[in-house]
Amino acid sequence: MLEQVKQVILVLSGKGGVGKSTVSTQLALTLKEKGFKVGLLDIDLCGPSVPYILNLECKNIHQGPEGWIPVYLDSEQRLGVMSIGFLLNSRNDAVVWRGPKKSSMIKQFLEDVCWQDLDFLVIDTPPGTSDEHITVMENLRPVKHCSAILVTTPQEVAIEDVRKEITFCRKTGIPIMGIIENMSGYECPTCSHCTNIFSSGGGHSLAELAKLPFLGTLPIDPRVGQLAGQGLSAFKEIPDSSTSKVFGHIVDSL
Ligand code: ADP
Repeated sequence: MLEQVKQVILVLSGKGGVGKSTVSTQLALTLKEKGFKVGLLDIDLCGPSVPYILNLECKNIHQGPEGWIPVYLDSEQRLGVMSIGFLLNSRNDAVVWRGPKKSSMIKQFLEDVCWQDLDFLVIDTPPGTSDEHITVMENLRPVKHCSAILVTTPQEVAIEDVRKEITFCRKTGIPIMGIIENMSGYECPTCSHCTNIFSSGGGHSLAELAKLPFLGTLPIDPRVGQLAGQGLSAFKEIPDSSTSKVFGHIVDSL
């Protein structure tokens, strides 16, 4: 129930595989570390990866008297997670649905999940601007504060698609918090030298062009994926890393 949510943060990207779920989970984990009560809603119906990323795949959603009870990552119930992945029999099950069925599932996620009082609901979306995005935008009215974070990799092909996300946000009236450039080079763990495997700076230039805040660059860091798999945040576990600093700054600016 969105009436129980103070602020929604949508995580959007033009392409798949650019790190949207990684950004969503690290953002949610950082918010939890900073003492907030957080929900993480995965609306990527055809490719739900949040249960896998957070190692919650064996968990099930239960029906309570007031609605679906999310899966909690921690015993203090500071981070609750909802994903269609919890409703599928196996990880290999495919969701082959047309738009109206997808929309009604998302409406149910927004209306029937008993989030309890949340400071933040982070929504991990599928790539692009499809039925899922439109349904979310149409149903966010009960929440006063909504904004979007756009994720891209530095390559021109990914940047091009983020331009479409900017247009989508402007058309639907959702404020854009800023752009994150992910996989922006590989930082050597021994000498900290950064190799720009996929070029660099594209996200920053786009932010300047579109007059949007640039939220920072995340290097390719295998530890990030490994930590999330244990439900741990880079912010707490590798506090001196670029990733931890970017998420720390984002959360402090909220
Ligand atoms: P999306 O949600 O956009 O499809 P994911 O967050 O699932 O992308 O990321 C795709 C893959 O890339 C995952 O295996 C993830 O662990 C990895 N990944 C994402 N960002 C990083 C990063 N900064 N460093 C290392 N691996 C990353």
